[in-house]
Amino acid sequence: MSQNPFAPPVNQSPHPEGGDGDASGFWREGSYLVIRKDADPLPHRCVKCNAPAQARNIRQVQWYPRWITLTVIVCWPAFLIGYLLTRKTAKPNVGLCMRHAKRTKMLLFLGRVFLVVSLVGLTVGIFSDSLWFLLSGTVGLLISLAPLILAIVLRPVHIDNERGKYKGAGPAFLDTLEEMPPGDEPLATH
Ligand SMILES: [Zn+2]
Repeated sequence: MSQNPFAPPVNQSPHPEGGDGDASGFWREGSYLVIRKDADPLPHRCVKCNAPAQARNIRQVQWYPRWITLTVIVCWPAFLIGYLLTRKTAKPNVGLCMRHAKRTKMLLFLGRVFLVVSLVGLTVGIFSDSLWFLLSGTVGLLISLAPLILAIVLRPVHIDNERGKYKGAGPAFLDTLEEMPPGDEPLATH
């Protein structure tokens, strides 16, 4: 049997334009997005607004249990050890439209500029014993956290050895995904 030469070509791209193909390893869990570590790249659509993607965002994110923060009360080395022992990382590969890609870049840029300026201010404060520089450096450092946190496209609420559960995917994108596959346990959100 010969193949029909006029048959339409089969699209074998891992993320065909606008479609999901046979991509697997990710699903929605209510308003959360769950991605397995061995998942295919997410569909080539903006994870925020579901518009056709113009860029990919692949950034390592990390997660550690919230209770680890309480160990700071005991002493900071306890926090550091607990953090290093329980820390889990993942690298979700998601699409972004031009608008959301630009927004993410701008927030990262702002956060980094604030961070550098604040660190310079703090250093000047330490060496010149200037309370004004020390205070403004500390405040600047705290302010720089806001754009840096906002620049995280998908914020992990839980990561284990196999899966990551994320906040931040838009409802239009989530609506195109399947619910949790049968037999899979829901992940905690802390
Ligand atoms: Zn978008």
